[in-house]
Amino acid sequence: MTANLPPAAGARIEVRGGGDGAPRVATLEPGPDLPGAPAPFALWLDQELSPPSPGSRTLATLDGAPAIVEDEQGVVFLFDPARAVDALLHERHVRPRRPLHTRVPLPYQLVPGGWRLRAFRLLARAGSAPPPGFPDWPLDDAADALGATWVAASRRAGATLEWPPAWPGGRGWVFVVSHDVDTVDGLRRAPAIAEWEAARGIRAAWFVVGEVMRRDPGAAAAIRAAGHELGLHGDRHDNRLGYAAAAAIARRLDTCADLVADHAMTGFRAPSLLESPALRRELRRRFAYASQVPDTEVRSLLAPRRGCTTLRPFWRDGLLEVPLTLPLDDKLVLAGGGEREIIAAWRGKLDAVRRRGGIGQLVVHNEAHLLARCRAAFERVVADGHADGGAWHATPGEVARFWDTTRNDG
Ligand SMILES: [Zn+2]
Repeated sequence: MTANLPPAAGARIEVRGGGDGAPRVATLEPGPDLPGAPAPFALWLDQELSPPSPGSRTLATLDGAPAIVEDEQGVVFLFDPARAVDALLHERHVRPRRPLHTRVPLPYQLVPGGWRLRAFRLLARAGSAPPPGFPDWPLDDAADALGATWVAASRRAGATLEWPPAWPGGRGWVFVVSHDVDTVDGLRRAPAIAEWEAARGIRAAWFVVGEVMRRDPGAAAAIRAAGHELGLHGDRHDNRLGYAAAAAIARRLDTCADLVADHAMTGFRAPSLLESPALRRELRRRFAYASQVPDTEVRSLLAPRRGCTTLRPFWRDGLLEVPLTLPLDDKLVLAGGGEREIIAAWRGKLDAVRRRGGIGQLVVHNEAHLLARCRAAFERVVADGHADGGAWHATPGEVARFWDTTRNDG
């Protein structure tokens, strides 16, 4: 079972909606008869509401119209919540554009990082506010809120269900540290940071580009020897893997099969997070999970706003995803943030994650032009997260394994 909403076994609950409608952002407002439901939240929806049967009582409204009601049969959803959650998790609200540089036959990494940042800043018009829209930033957990609404309605209808699942050891939230290693220079710097982490008892995930790993096998081995998880960050960092045809994706991933086996890699992260349904289908056969979708992001390469709006793992096209939830280091640097701003952004998001019992995944690029600006903030925030006894400190591979065994129960 890879459903993203928990089954409400035994509940008198019915879904009587799901007709196609014009996509819109609407406010779902659970009423006081749904204890445990979240505060009103904005939701992207491409469904029309079904009309309620006469005499039913409203439990929640959508832009003022009845959306969840109760009649003598039990609780009735006037839209399909499973379809709505999947639409959010699959980012149907995003109209992805293909970044220009992925069409240009020039290895963009030949351009020095500092120059790349400057060019990026111009392209992204950093400093100007992103266009308004959905999802909100830096926090939007619409998919989790809709899940909580489903659970509250199911409980009212008589189901007993534990949701969200408790994290191992009864911990309240999860702290995950991961690194992207794009270049040989980045990999050369990795063992020192991996050892800094290991000395503090921190185990991280290092997503390394396949051809980079081959150029410095000793560094990859040193990362693993320090107790960390190794994941694949594409075969090359040309940002084109997600745009290739299925057969070409398979051929490219085949070239890394020996590395995946030798380093017991179970996870994958697409270069620059540029992924696609074709890539996910191919990854599903080779990896236990991917970690390449942000919960919410502005000025992304794919669209001005994007995100899966959840702080928890989920299945997307049958592939388990562990979302990236702390603002990305390159975005914060791009926005002109100094050490203080970066620390504030990460701590603010960690507080929100802690309150919601989700995953706080910090992603740091191991490249000199980013490390120079983020290293101190990274050390502070990692120490913060690690000192929190209420957190489960896990690698994304461990989180994926836990979610798969806990949720894949049918
Ligand atoms: Zn990368």
